Amino acid sequence: MKRIACVVGVAALAAMAQPEKKPELKAPPVVAPGASAAAAPADAKVLIDGKSLDGWKKRDGSPAAWKLDEKSGTATAGGGDIVSKHTFGDAQIHVEFMTPVEKGDGQDRGNSGVYIHGHYEVQVLDSYKSETYPDGQCGAIYGQHVPLVNACRPQGEWQTYDIVFRAPKFDAAGKKTANAVITVIHNGVLIQDHAEAVSPTGSAIDQKETATGPLMLQEHGHPVVYRNVWVRGI
Ligand code: MG
Repeated sequence: MKRIACVVGVAALAAMAQPEKKPELKAPPVVAPGASAAAAPADAKVLIDGKSLDGWKKRDGSPAAWKLDEKSGTATAGGGDIVSKHTFGDAQIHVEFMTPVEKGDGQDRGNSGVYIHGHYEVQVLDSYKSETYPDGQCGAIYGQHVPLVNACRPQGEWQTYDIVFRAPKFDAAGKKTANAVITVIHNGVLIQDHAEAVSPTGSAIDQKETATGPLMLQEHGHPVVYRNVWVRGI
């Protein structure tokens, strides 16, 4: 008798654990992931693979001039900022960068930047055992948000940014109703958690915030190297 009660009890529990089917819910789309967490998923737009800079231009629209290396899949900063022809709204962005082995202090050491929409700079800098103003160090939303921690690797080592970006929102009249929101994981460490960009940061492509825009990579006089840069709309 005891055993029957137990069996009935287990069956009742199993029935309770079954979630109710909700016909209003649709299964999410399938996205084939890359071979590793860093590799571009099937629905990503690859922007730097070392083969071509056809997807990029200078600020003035002329051809991008960074140095490509097909063998290592890299592009090295030089000859001005580069702006992607691809534009996006909300996005997941993956960037790999390496600051050069060089002397220098503060802002004059491995300086570059990832400008989301050409407007909001996630600073790239060699901040490994190198000091500068906190809202200008590596991983800062330049001039607006100090990174939560310093997760830098030394110069000459590859580093990653994985960014979740929510574009600013506008009403029908074009007035901004919500700021851009940026989350950044640097080398696997959370350094910006839903940071609100209140305006474009210094040296932005222009001051007019938009619902969609390009990616801009900064050339700041230092041969910072990039590889495996991709964006997927979300
Ligand atoms: Mg910079």
